[in-house]
Amino acid sequence: MTDHSSIADGLVVSIHYTLRDDTGELLDTSSGDEPLVYLHGAENIVPGLERALDGHTVGDRLTVEVAPADGYGEATSKGPQAVPRDQFPADADLFAGMQIYAETESGDGFPLWIVEVSDDQVMLDSDHPLAGATLHFEVEVTEIRPATAEEIAHGHPHGPGGHHH
Ligand code: ZN
Repeated sequence: MTDHSSIADGLVVSIHYTLRDDTGELLDTSSGDEPLVYLHGAENIVPGLERALDGHTVGDRLTVEVAPADGYGEATSKGPQAVPRDQFPADADLFAGMQIYAETESGDGFPLWIVEVSDDQVMLDSDHPLAGATLHFEVEVTEIRPATAEEIAHGHPHGPGGHHH
């Protein structure tokens, strides 16, 4: 028998969360919206938060401080780089904060974040917008359920709050 009452790898977990930075400024929240649904142990959420949730049960409320290394990484970029807008498809809906994937010449994918979009150029940064930030989460666990075999294979949850495809 597997116990599905406490959070462990291979379970789909729903959480309500509020994220603030060191100054207490609100960065993101699920409040007033659907909870965030993720597959535990599949790196769907930042490692520091995933680790803190381990073993918790429905109804638990946690306050979690996550260092940059366990969050969105240390800030390492030397600043955004400009790329001509016409390097992207004309109909691409580009916006600040959007994550895209670029490829090296050997075909390895790596993430970049859009910082700013203008008519003729796009500013790209290799750092996540929250790189270097200590993250302050307030979290409430609202649901825990077993993942389906398909969800385990895909590495993310399906259905309400999850991927649709
Ligand atoms: Zn899937």
